[in-house]
Amino acid sequence: MRAKANKQEIAASKVRLKKSLGQNFLTEKNIVEKIVRTADVDKDTNVIEIGPGIGALTELLIDQSKFTTAVEIDDELIPVLTESFGSYENFELKHIDFLKTDASQFETHGASTTKVVANLPYYITTAIITKILNEMDYVDEIYIMVQKEVAERISASPKSKQYGSLSVYCQLLCEVNYEFTVKRTVFMPPPNVDSAIISLKRKDLDIDIKTIEKFVQNAFKQKRKTLVNNLNKAYGVDKPTITAFLEGLGYKPSVRAEEISPEEYINMQSKFKEEVING
Ligand code: SAM
Repeated sequence: MRAKANKQEIAASKVRLKKSLGQNFLTEKNIVEKIVRTADVDKDTNVIEIGPGIGALTELLIDQSKFTTAVEIDDELIPVLTESFGSYENFELKHIDFLKTDASQFETHGASTTKVVANLPYYITTAIITKILNEMDYVDEIYIMVQKEVAERISASPKSKQYGSLSVYCQLLCEVNYEFTVKRTVFMPPPNVDSAIISLKRKDLDIDIKTIEKFVQNAFKQKRKTLVNNLNKAYGVDKPTITAFLEGLGYKPSVRAEEISPEEYINMQSKFKEEVING
């Protein structure tokens, strides 16, 4: 099996790197190893890799997993990946746009855990995370490289500057961990920002996530406004009623969306429905 995580290998592949597809390839084997170690991939793990590039991560994933499925959009990379990994029985390459993929086409290959492990194309990071969390309930854990700033937003705590609806959404559904920072210099070409590996482990939940998600989006609609104002606008309920409702839950009338934790949102949304909308 040939590793393709250095500048010479990338140059030798003669692939034209496409900025439009977010192609910043990993060039350091120790970072590749650290990612796969962090993801704790073993022979009972089914892996889905989004955007294998020329296969920097793919090699080790195939080696350590029960089965690895790689999803790549770029025509030019398909022969390169097929040549390197096509003969492995525990490997499948899908030449498709992940965002347009029917999520039911992935198999779990009899493994006890399914993990997404990927160095994501940054321009569609949020869309990819949302698709996995909304449509692929068989994915138990996600280990992804994203822009450092996005990793900070996803893992942010309430009341911090980075905390927003994306943090709440991810933390509602998953145990989120900022794993480690990756310097821009280990990519070819180097992007303009540093990156980070973040992990999302799905929680075992029994909640109506769609309704809560909508409530959270409404709460954050205008960041400078108070929660009373945002809920008033979204649900058309008068401000005194919303103020009394929030005070009943122990919040000041001036409370803002970014002061409320994911767990508090679950409670708040169900009480809001019960006491304000239906009450
Ligand atoms: N995993 C490789 C590495 O670490 O060197 C490449 C990572 S590069 C940041 C992102 C990869 O995602 C590229 O190979 C790109 O062609 C692919 N890609 C971009 N958009 C995609 C999409 N919608 N579906 C599948 N793959 C995509």
